[in-house]
Amino acid sequence: LGVNRTTVLNAYKELKADGLMASHVGRGTVAVSTVGEYPVKTIYQKEPIWEFLYSDYLKNHEPFDVNKYLEIANQKDVISFAAGIASFENLPTQAFEGIEAELLSRQKELLVSPVAGFSSLRKVISTYMQKRSCFCQPSEIMVLSGSQQGIDLITRAFINPGDLILIEEPSFFPAIQSFRAAGAKIMAVPMENDGMDMEILEQLLSRYRPKFLYTMPAYHNPTGICMSLAKRIRLLELVNKYGIPVLEDDPYGELYFEGQPLSPLKSMDKNGYVMYLSTFSKTISPGLRLGWICTGKKLIHQLCNIRQLADLHSNCISQQVVERFIVSGGMADYLTLIRREYKERRDIMAEALDRYAPPGLSWNIPAGGYYLWCTLPEGVSAEALAQKAAAGGVAILPGMPSYLVTRKGEAHVRLNYTFPAKNRISEGIRLLCEAIRELLRL
Ligand code: PMP
Repeated sequence: LGVNRTTVLNAYKELKADGLMASHVGRGTVAVSTVGEYPVKTIYQKEPIWEFLYSDYLKNHEPFDVNKYLEIANQKDVISFAAGIASFENLPTQAFEGIEAELLSRQKELLVSPVAGFSSLRKVISTYMQKRSCFCQPSEIMVLSGSQQGIDLITRAFINPGDLILIEEPSFFPAIQSFRAAGAKIMAVPMENDGMDMEILEQLLSRYRPKFLYTMPAYHNPTGICMSLAKRIRLLELVNKYGIPVLEDDPYGELYFEGQPLSPLKSMDKNGYVMYLSTFSKTISPGLRLGWICTGKKLIHQLCNIRQLADLHSNCISQQVVERFIVSGGMADYLTLIRREYKERRDIMAEALDRYAPPGLSWNIPAGGYYLWCTLPEGVSAEALAQKAAAGGVAILPGMPSYLVTRKGEAHVRLNYTFPAKNRISEGIRLLCEAIRELLRL
């Protein structure tokens, strides 16, 4: 075809030198592709064509560009209701005081930690959980580098492509993304004011027998809803009846504002169906990267096995800081302080909404946690509002990523009251409501 014979021979030689030729008796010498569909002709391009190499995991992942909203929050003078971060005005710096002396006295423990965390910290966490009526052994606790790691480990331990997972809707989107990336099919149980709809839950459990159910019973992210005691009891009856484990994600349970808080599902779990996940990110600081999972010893052992493939153990210094903080009693005092502080912030936000809200805007008053969940007036979309509000100096998180199953999130926005400066919450709500009015052309 007009190609010079020497050129062809040279090409063969080059492919052979690169190990890209295979000879088979009867079939002659052929070019081989070592990487599936990777087109041989592109091998000599300057850069790899990553798209041909990506795993299904990466391709299944549906990223949501939260940074778009969080970056707005980072701009100077912006009032941020977007991120779910603790109040920096109240950071417990006392947790770090005198830490150098402690670190020096426990030098050996700076080198390396057991995969499941220091045994002293596991013990401290098991006692911490007893205060919430969860009676577990230190051997049933695994310290994690944040609870997101627990979600990832459970994903990797249980999900095969095509497996069915049940979630509440709306839900915490990085959990949905994690399950989906592993190839899970997700079915959603709608949320009611007191937790998920138990009739639909039973229908889905009995009909589809999912691998597990993912739930946030206490001050749910994003809605702030707390599951009622009646629903907690019913949920446990159902999962026991159908033999389906539950992943209870509980970052906010300690942050209750009124009355006697409900104990986690784990406290009522007689048969080991509940895998309990929590974190110090929402109480102390997300920068510590420290959380934990509480579940049966056998599963802890397996999770440790797979954890070693990604992250050998959690940060030694963070583990020591948190252990000291709890043992010294500082944590208990700090929790009392932030419960009061966050309740006050919630009230400031709710009062500002009462004062400035345009017709058609509705919201809940959470009894704890970090978030106020708003339903927008008809005709106002969350994305349009996020843009308009950003232009006015306010960052919010639209509801879309929380509704990755039914895609109904355009009607909602999540407002965080723990992070913004307390004296700017009211102003931020006024600006946000102004943006809604503009979109409604009021
Ligand atoms: N689960 C829920 C419900 C959360 O809200 C968060 C933080 N936004 C996490 C898990 C992850 O927290 P971390 O990894 O910081 O512990």
